[in-house]
Amino acid sequence: MSTDKINTALVNAGRSKKYCQGSVNSVIQRASSLVFDSVKAKKFATVNRAKGELFYGRRGTLTHFSFQDAMVELEGGVGCALYPCGAAAIANSILSFVKTGDHILMTGAAYEPTQDFCNVILKDMNVTTTYYDPLIGSGIAELIKPSTKIVFLESPSSITMEIQDIPAIVKAIRAINSEIIIMLDNTWAAGILFSAFDHDIDISIQAGTKYIVGHSDAMIGTAVANERCWERLRERSYLMGQMVDADTAYVAARGLRTMAVRLKQHQENSIKIAKWLSERPEVERVNHPALPSCKGHEFYVRDFKGCNGLFSIVLKEHLNREQLAEYLDNFEHFSMAYSWGGYESLILATQPEELNAIRPAGKVDFTGTLIRLHIGLEDADDLIEDLEKGFERITS
Ligand SMILES: *Cc1c(COP(=O)(O)O)cnc(C)c1O
Repeated sequence: MSTDKINTALVNAGRSKKYCQGSVNSVIQRASSLVFDSVKAKKFATVNRAKGELFYGRRGTLTHFSFQDAMVELEGGVGCALYPCGAAAIANSILSFVKTGDHILMTGAAYEPTQDFCNVILKDMNVTTTYYDPLIGSGIAELIKPSTKIVFLESPSSITMEIQDIPAIVKAIRAINSEIIIMLDNTWAAGILFSAFDHDIDISIQAGTKYIVGHSDAMIGTAVANERCWERLRERSYLMGQMVDADTAYVAARGLRTMAVRLKQHQENSIKIAKWLSERPEVERVNHPALPSCKGHEFYVRDFKGCNGLFSIVLKEHLNREQLAEYLDNFEHFSMAYSWGGYESLILATQPEELNAIRPAGKVDFTGTLIRLHIGLEDADDLIEDLEKGFERITS
């Protein structure tokens, strides 16, 4: 979908009369029990329970169906499964497609809990994980085994922000074994800045917690699947009891309506600030996908429709404990918190040795402290002033 089409789709997706019943937004239908008028109606609902008929709360209500329809309209694919958070979407998507003895390929710079899921849960099930360099490209072919069931991508990488050559990776996998399920953690792109289904991905997963919700006040996970994966993903996630309440589904759908303008402003602010940072003497490198200094920047230019507020920088210096506290404890606009994607600015620091502990497929090539920034919707100049004062605290 082109950018202008996405803007319109974000406003309208999922708002059919059936779901809105005369109001602008979908109704919030809170329900466990859904009442049938007759034996015939019960029978019909049962037969069509996976096809948008009201059946039982765990299968969803009008509020869920509205948001699920919206996600499919925006991302493509044929169906969207909902989960209580992004981590649940990742875990259940993987679990829906593996059994004991299988093998998966996981990007070696994946979101840390995704790696932990592989190292703990999959390991206990005797499903083995091989981590690959996020920049491996077509070299992924050499890691594929007969038992490989899933290749999992995340682009950009968490924290270090490498952009993957997804077309090269997908092409190499399909050439060897077309049965392999390719999953993408598409959270950074908010499902719309990178089109998973135009790139032959099977399942596009998001922590809707981030930009979809957009206000740091709810958690939800989404997994949009193509035709060949949808039924299995839907039914297995259902068997594992994956559900989200109607209020959260509503809040997520509401977030969609303003997502385009929010992303536009996050992008404008973050590019301005990233460029400012790249001129600073304290900064070794800026890992912002829209800047050439980010690894895989050429793939960003080729494959993405835009960026957002999340990136990282590497400082020349390895800050000690006192410096880190002095630096991080005194920002006016940047709060310290995990997560991102809300309207507010956030900051976190990670040392290269801490990063190496969660990089099973290759160590980082820098020695300074890494700072991850989420640039919010504040005035960019206020944020720059705040960051400038931060540098003064660690250099004076
Ligand atoms: C936050 C995040 C998740 C997990 O989402 P939760 O809703 O916090 O469980 C998964 N992947 C990425 C890339 C994330 O940033």
